Amino acid sequence: MIQTDVLIIGAGPVGLFTVFEAGLLKLKSHLIDALPYPGGQCSEIYPKKPIFDIPAYPEVLAGDLVNNLLKQIEPFQPNYTLGERAETIEKDEEGFFTVSTQEGTQHRSKVVIIAGGLGSFEPRKPPIPDLSYFENKGVDYFVKDPEKYRNKKVLISGGGDSALDWTIQLSSIAEKVTLIHRRNEFRGALDSVEKVRQLAKSGIITLITNAEVKQLIGTDSLEQIGVRSLEGDQLLTSDYFIPLFGLLPKLGPIANWGLEIEKNAIKVDNALDYSTNVKGIYAVGDVNTYPGKLKLILSGFHETTLALQSAYQIINPGKRHTMKYTTVNGITGFDGSKKEAKKSELLSI
Ligand SMILES: Cc1cc2nc3c(=O)[nH]c(=O)nc-3n(C[C@H](O)[C@H](O)[C@H](O)COP(=O)(O)OP(=O)(O)OC[C@H]3O[C@@H](n4cnc5c(N)ncnc54)[C@H](O)[C@@H]3O)c2cc1C
Repeated sequence: MIQTDVLIIGAGPVGLFTVFEAGLLKLKSHLIDALPYPGGQCSEIYPKKPIFDIPAYPEVLAGDLVNNLLKQIEPFQPNYTLGERAETIEKDEEGFFTVSTQEGTQHRSKVVIIAGGLGSFEPRKPPIPDLSYFENKGVDYFVKDPEKYRNKKVLISGGGDSALDWTIQLSSIAEKVTLIHRRNEFRGALDSVEKVRQLAKSGIITLITNAEVKQLIGTDSLEQIGVRSLEGDQLLTSDYFIPLFGLLPKLGPIANWGLEIEKNAIKVDNALDYSTNVKGIYAVGDVNTYPGKLKLILSGFHETTLALQSAYQIINPGKRHTMKYTTVNGITGFDGSKKEAKKSELLSI
């Protein structure tokens, strides 16, 4: 059982900044995300797009914003459960919540901050017979650890950035990589398309376009994949099939946690602290709703700052906390690191 002060569901930009605000209050955080990496929509949908409305950043790539947030929270040493979807929540008589993931990992905390954005990203699954039978027996929708594919035969399917990027990366790890795409043109970045075509030309990978996966064959695990192309049908020996057709966000199990839901979002008290109707559970960022809500990153940063001030009282009942500027108090990380305020430069106010 993983114990923490603040359990954060969703490691998007708002979930990540929650770690920082918790850290300032000397509260330890643990993040759960269904994706195998942090960053939420910024990492999954638009890492290379510039954002123009983050205060003090005239322009910042979404991926760089995530990297900066990760750096900013480093001193507070958050722990992660990645690639697992939070599935159930229970509250015990001591007031602690237990949140369990699909994989059965259990987390215990007095405060739960839901920063679930548009919901957990679920893979778009192609309509192939027996696909679900082979899940975890050769069919993977995410590449969590490239090492898993070392010296294995891998078939990737898709035409976007993920399919291209993983084809390139796994080409130096796997015994054989085949990329199947139903068109001849790709949607991904031009330099990645160029690289994939180059790898195919030099025989490092096999590229089959105008083709689709039609059949999965195996007994206890995947053994062969049936591919239909303009040249006809063929059976390819493969240990893994990785269909990468994008991800769809779904509010998912959180919708059944007894929280007040309106228009597919969690209703919160925006006049006070972004708390939900269940004491100890807060909802911040894109996942919440209240009159006048704007689904923007900066709104989420503000919401979670207030939520944490309120959460502090639940974790430390009766203890007073006075908000101090970081310029005055500096930052003391849980790793012992210190960012000191420069006293000599302080104005007396
Ligand atoms: C193309 C595009 C451009 C955008 N441009 C801007 C912009 O210019 N400026 C701006 O401010 N905003 C912009 N946005 C919106 C911005 O990305 C969102 O407001 C922001 O990502 C919300 O952050 P979040 O942390 O609340 O949620 P998200 O980024 O959605 O992250 C939520 C995370 O929670 C996880 N999760 C959800 N449910 C579960 C569960 N049950 N278990 C485990 N994990 C779960 C998800 O996997 C996800 O990683 C843009 C969005 C898009 C799509």
